[in-house]
Amino acid sequence: MLSELSATEMAFLQIAVMQAVAALLWGLGAWLAQAERAALAHWAVYAALSAITWLLLALYFRAPPLALVLIGLCSVIALRRGIRLYIGRPLDWALPALILALAVFAQALGLDAARRPLQAVINFGTLALLYLSTAWDLRRHAHEDLHWRFPLLLSLPLLLGGLAFAGRALRALLAPESVAAEMNVPSALNVGSALSYIVLVLLLHATLMALVVSRLLGRLQHLARRDPLTGLLNRRAMHAALDEHARRRRRVADTFSVLMIDVDHFKSVNDRHGHEAGDRALTHLSRLMTQALRQQDRVGRFGGEEFLVLLPSADLARARADAEILRLQVRSQPLPLADQLLHLSVSIGVAEWAGPAEDLSRLLARADAALYRAKAGGRDRVEADVGDAGELRAQAAG
Ligand code: GH3
Ligand code: MG
Ligand code: MG
Repeated sequence: MLSELSATEMAFLQIAVMQAVAALLWGLGAWLAQAERAALAHWAVYAALSAITWLLLALYFRAPPLALVLIGLCSVIALRRGIRLYIGRPLDWALPALILALAVFAQALGLDAARRPLQAVINFGTLALLYLSTAWDLRRHAHEDLHWRFPLLLSLPLLLGGLAFAGRALRALLAPESVAAEMNVPSALNVGSALSYIVLVLLLHATLMALVVSRLLGRLQHLARRDPLTGLLNRRAMHAALDEHARRRRRVADTFSVLMIDVDHFKSVNDRHGHEAGDRALTHLSRLMTQALRQQDRVGRFGGEEFLVLLPSADLARARADAEILRLQVRSQPLPLADQLLHLSVSIGVAEWAGPAEDLSRLLARADAALYRAKAGGRDRVEADVGDAGELRAQAAG
C-alpha cells in the first residue's frame, strides 16, 4: 500500500510519524515533570493532534474530511496555550474562539469548488495568526524574562511558519485559481511545503526544548549559587563574585572593600529560642542587609552565622560608614517572636582591597582579623583593618 502513495502523501506520512514520536516524548516529559506538567502535556496534545491531522491528510489526500482543518487548528491552539502556560502569560480565550468560529464558518461553506479559495484564505490566515501571535509571545519572553541578546531567535521557527502560512493565504486571495490547481493534487508546491514543514516542526520542537533547557539551567545555577535558607549568594558564589570583581578592578584602577559580619552570641539564640527561631533570625538579618545595601553591592552567607559583603568602589572610610549603618539597622530592628522581641547585634570587620598585589584570601584574612578585634572589643561594633593596606599599595605602585 505504501508503494502506491505519491511523494506528497509520503511526505505527509513522515510528518505524522515525526509528530507522533514527539507526542510520546512530550507526554513522557509531562509525566516526569512536576512544575511544568500542564505546559508539557499541552505540547504532547499539540504533537498528537498534529500527527492525526497529517495522517488524515496522507490517507484522504484528494478529499480531506472537513474536521481535518479543525483538528489542525486545535493542535496549534494547544501549542500556543502550552507556551503561554510555560512562560507565565495569561490564557486568553478570545483569539482561539474567534479562530475556531472562523474555521467552522469556512468548513460550513462545504466542498463546493468555487468556495475553495475563500476556505484557503481563512484556513491559512487563521494558522498564520496563531503562529505569529505565539511568535510574538516568545520574542517577548526571550527579551523580558531571559534577557537574550537576540530574542528574535527564540521565535524564529514560529515566525517563519506564520509568514509562510500568511503567504499562502495571500496567494489564495490574489490568485484564487491557483488553489484548485494545487491544494489537493500532488503538486511540487505541496511536496516542497511538506519538506519545509518537516524542518519547521523540528525547529519548533528545538525551540520548546530550548525553553525547557534554559529554565533547567537557570534553576541549576540558582541551586549552585544560592544559600537555601536566606536566598543570599553562598560562599562559592561570593568567592566567584570577588574574583571577578578584582579582575575587573585591575583593568579600571578602582578600589573595593569587604565587610565580614558575624552575629553576636548566636549560639545562645539557638539555645534559648530553639533552632527554628535561629533560622528565622538569619533570614531576618539577611533581609535587613539586603535592604540597607545599594543595588550594586553583593551580599552572601559565608558560613553558619557569618555574612560577607562586597562594596564596589568603596574605600575604607565609605565601607566603614556603610558597616555602621548596617550595624545600627540590626540593632534597631529586633525580630518579633511569638511572645517577645529578639534583639540581635552583629560585629563587623572592614577591609579595603590593597590593589593588584593582594590576593583575595589575604583581603579576607584582614577583614577577619578586624572582625576578631570587634569581637574582642565587646561585640556590636565595627572595626576597620588597620593593617598593611597602605604598605601593600605602595609596593604595588613601586
Ligand atoms: P560570637 O559572638 O563569638 O560570634 O558567638 P556565637 O555564639 O555567635 O559564635 P559561635 O561560633 O560559638 O556559634 C555560632 C552558632 O551559630 C553555632 C551554630 O549552632 C549556629 N548556627 C550556624 N549555622 C546555623 C543555622 O543555619 N541555623 C541556626 N539556627 N543556627 C546556626
Ligand atoms: Mg561565627
Ligand atoms: Mg557569632
